[in-house]
Amino acid sequence: MQFPSPMSQDKEPVDPMEELKKNLDQAFKQGKAFFPMGGGFGPQSGVSPQSPSEKKENPEVDEEREEALKRIHGFNLKPKEIRDYLDRFVIQQREAKKVISVAICDHFNHVRRCLENPDLKERDYAKQNVILLGPTGVGKTYLMRNVAKLIGVPFVKADATKFSETGYVGGDVDDLVRDLVKNANGDVDLAQYGIIYIDEIDKIAQKGEHGRDVSGRGVQINLLKLMEETDVNLQSQTDLLGQMQAMMDFQQTGKPRKKTINTRHILFIVSGAFDKLAESVKKRLTTTTMGFGASRKNDDDESDDFLSKVETRDFIDYGFEPEFIGRLPVRVACQHLLPEDLMQILTSSEGSILAQYLADFDGYNIKLDVSKEALEKVSERAHKEKTGARGLMTVLERVFRDFKFELPSTGIKQFKVTGDTVDDPSSDLKQLLRDNISEQRSVLMEEVTTYAQRFENQHGFTLDFTEDAVIALVEESLDTDKTIRALCELKFRDFHHGLTLISRNTGQTVFPITESVVKNAEKELSEWVVKSYRQQSEAESE
Ligand code: ADP
Repeated sequence: MQFPSPMSQDKEPVDPMEELKKNLDQAFKQGKAFFPMGGGFGPQSGVSPQSPSEKKENPEVDEEREEALKRIHGFNLKPKEIRDYLDRFVIQQREAKKVISVAICDHFNHVRRCLENPDLKERDYAKQNVILLGPTGVGKTYLMRNVAKLIGVPFVKADATKFSETGYVGGDVDDLVRDLVKNANGDVDLAQYGIIYIDEIDKIAQKGEHGRDVSGRGVQINLLKLMEETDVNLQSQTDLLGQMQAMMDFQQTGKPRKKTINTRHILFIVSGAFDKLAESVKKRLTTTTMGFGASRKNDDDESDDFLSKVETRDFIDYGFEPEFIGRLPVRVACQHLLPEDLMQILTSSEGSILAQYLADFDGYNIKLDVSKEALEKVSERAHKEKTGARGLMTVLERVFRDFKFELPSTGIKQFKVTGDTVDDPSSDLKQLLRDNISEQRSVLMEEVTTYAQRFENQHGFTLDFTEDAVIALVEESLDTDKTIRALCELKFRDFHHGLTLISRNTGQTVFPITESVVKNAEKELSEWVVKSYRQQSEAESE
């Protein structure tokens, strides 16, 4: 579709904003304007906080919300309880779990004190915002998502690189807060205690005057404001539609919506791999008397060690504003995951990706028996991917892809996953199919019956497949890798027309389908039709 350019029109060029406002005005007067609310991340996003009158009935959500608010108002978890909860999901990262558990308790204890005593003046209270260092895929986000889940507060994650200083080119950091409200179903009361997670924070460190990221400093300053305390407009300045919707609501209800959300109790977590930072800490430490070396196993361990020794001045040298780093008092490094850690994730993390695969197969009533050797091989291979636990996903996807495609159609209800399966999934699958050919055949035979039933329901004619015909179809299905349904629909596509003619001529409604019909369906059908006309004229001449 081509849009006419304003220049090519006879009329005066129309300003689209003016036009929109005019239309809206008219719609307001008629009281029938409707605008979809902004969705997703980005500068256009806006949220519609719910007033009690417009809140949709959803008892489950309401109950969860009430529970979460109750938990926040009467917060009484101990750090070890949080750690124990995280242990169920996150493997290793002992130090991070400990530090985060303490920070979360301090934070929500402080929130509770403020709620109990609104006049409380803890001006100097330093919010327990966290900086998480460490490689990708080792559980940094997973830790924080689980904390948010435990407490029942909304969680938002975004990459620092998508923001720009002005918010025009990239996103506006305030969108993070608006997205938090969105994730809380528009519930500002709950969103104000949410958790905002900003990844790739190392990418917005300003690299001197000729640095890569000229707007990094600006983004840091903007984030700093959020992390301290500020009121964020619930409607983005660039979200014209959202603003109009708010105006319209006001006209209709006479009640203004809550317009801002305060960030005082929102907890901020920033994270990044900080590879280069490890190097500079190493330099600092090796030029002082503290040396490392003898006991270390490999480069990954070395970088973990240095990251855990990072100090404020290292961050500043790296290109962060001192005030920005100052607002992130809790710092902890997550460790690289070794093959044995990955193995443990597979076997004992509650949210393990292996559990997901088992559940996916279980959806078809297929049970997997995964050997220890297979798990070891998966873990070794995943470790080589160098993407932390994400490597497990990559490897398992590679191993199971064809199994997931083939097995649901075969009648195979269980299979053993061995070291060979991981080494060569394709050969292993072929062998499995060969070993279970009789199960496959019986499933395919059932599919012939299903097709015949469907045909009868649709057209009122019975296709009576002989045993030889069924075997011929099953073999063709196996040879050509086509489903029985697709094969039959192709072979017998004109049958209902032909059978209708025959039935009209002879009254026949049951048709034997032999092997020869399966092999030459069209030819056999036309012979039947011709024969039926002959029969009819013979009957008439008698
Ligand atoms: P990142 O450290 O880059 O934030 P994530 O936390 O997003 O990595 O990890 C990606 C996925 O890998 C998680 O959703 C989780 O399933 C799994 N995972 C990562 N680390 C761990 C871990 N230490 N224990 C259990 N699962 C993990």
